[in-house]
Amino acid sequence: MKLSVGLALLGVLFSLNGGFAVPVAIAADSPPMDDADKEKIRQIVKDAIREYVAAQHVVPDKGGANGILADIRLANRNFVRTHGPGYFKPFLDSQHPRATVITCSDSRVHTHALDATPDGDLFMVRNIGNQMSTAEGSVEYGVHHLHTPLLLIVGHSACGAIKAAAGDYSQESAPIRRELDTLQVPKGDPGMNSIKLNVNYQVGAARAKFEREVSDGQLTVVGAIYDFSNEMRQGQGKLNIINVNGETDATKIAALDLMKEAPVRKPIAARHRPASRKAKVEADATPESTDEPTKPKH
Ligand SMILES: [Zn+2]
Repeated sequence: MKLSVGLALLGVLFSLNGGFAVPVAIAADSPPMDDADKEKIRQIVKDAIREYVAAQHVVPDKGGANGILADIRLANRNFVRTHGPGYFKPFLDSQHPRATVITCSDSRVHTHALDATPDGDLFMVRNIGNQMSTAEGSVEYGVHHLHTPLLLIVGHSACGAIKAAAGDYSQESAPIRRELDTLQVPKGDPGMNSIKLNVNYQVGAARAKFEREVSDGQLTVVGAIYDFSNEMRQGQGKLNIINVNGETDATKIAALDLMKEAPVRKPIAARHRPASRKAKVEADATPESTDEPTKPKH
């Protein structure tokens, strides 16, 4: 099947009913799907298209700004349809993220790989090369004002910024050169070794900046690699923790309490919603909820 034909057939699924059409054969024998189910299927089809295009070894046609913005507006319409006012209620007045995360701007690296419910959980700082120095104010805001107990620095496999920094980037523009100058990687070594070196370097920079918070136990700085190409042979897409407060020995890291499995917490929206009237009365009678830390509003 030619690429254009394949995409045209798959594209039929997106054409009607606010951008999504249910195949007639399925719709005739099945109960009507709600918006959340439609969104799930839309995502599956989107993933299938991505895999199909990747299998053809061609660079996909980006479709121009109009097409991309149309897709974004459609995705947002579906988001609005599937998220009621209750979902946003916990976010209206303040935020209480659980971690400040520095990661690369790379489009292949996103929060859903780290957190199934990132809304309200992760204070995200992104730049090329997942670095401290070009986003110091943002990182400081997360640690000092939002009081996140975890600062997570995430590098990733096949990082273009590391590759560029390890080579000759003298022909780049001044702003790009400035952001590559702050990456400390050896010339001629553009791969995983430099990606790890950079994460360790950034953890060191963070520990130096937040020395008091780390020594007081208020902050833990963790360095990790999101390995979507499985270069580290730990599983494709695995988040490999390589540095905890400067400790880089894998055996010692594995033995830390930090690495033990913890109970899964509910998404923040669910945490704010009492399960029943009785639960609400009990929650109201409790002077301090232990579920949600008390933090200043911002
Ligand atoms: Zn990158």
